[in-house]
Amino acid sequence: MTRRHEILEEMGLTPVWRLTPEKEWIELKQVVPACTACGLHKTRNQTVLGVGDEQADWLFIGEAPGAEEDRLGEPFVGQAGKLLDNMLAAIGLNRAENVYICNVLKCRPPGNRNPEPDEVAKCTPHLTKQIALIQPKLIIAMGRFAAQTLLNSDASIASLRGRLHQYGGLPLIVTYHPAYLLRNLPDKSKAWEDLVFARKTMQGL
Ligand code: SF4
Repeated sequence: MTRRHEILEEMGLTPVWRLTPEKEWIELKQVVPACTACGLHKTRNQTVLGVGDEQADWLFIGEAPGAEEDRLGEPFVGQAGKLLDNMLAAIGLNRAENVYICNVLKCRPPGNRNPEPDEVAKCTPHLTKQIALIQPKLIIAMGRFAAQTLLNSDASIASLRGRLHQYGGLPLIVTYHPAYLLRNLPDKSKAWEDLVFARKTMQGL
């Protein structure tokens, strides 16, 4: 059994032999823009699936698209996106190479409110499929919402940082969301610690 099939099986996504990964990506890129599973489809301009290398070792996951992302169809644009790009550059990465960036939710909650549990439940299959197709070596959950959703926990970011977690058999590290860091500059040093920890973890994988 290949590593991909092991991950898919752990995520409850087998049997998967009907489609090749390329065809599964094509299918996902058709399914998500047409999705009406939760009420957010009524207020979105467009879905925001993700951006980057579809076979990346690094997968960064945030909360949900904001206004600019909803307008442009790409995650992490604007000031938070610039900060994320700087964070990636600090550990020798960029969003075009060996990195994939996405959110838990694929549609923008109106007014950037917090996602509702029902919206998360309805959107999670898209994310699960995405992760299974990418097969990253390491997942970075950015922000409280992504961390709590992926780890099925209500623990604080402070208590989840600095440890190696697991999601569907894949290593996962928690750090702050770039939008939070823009409002809380002193915590940038903690985010840097998380990235150094992530880089060291990746080197050992
Ligand atoms: Fe579908 Fe997710 Fe958008 Fe809801 S947020 S409509 S589940 S793609």
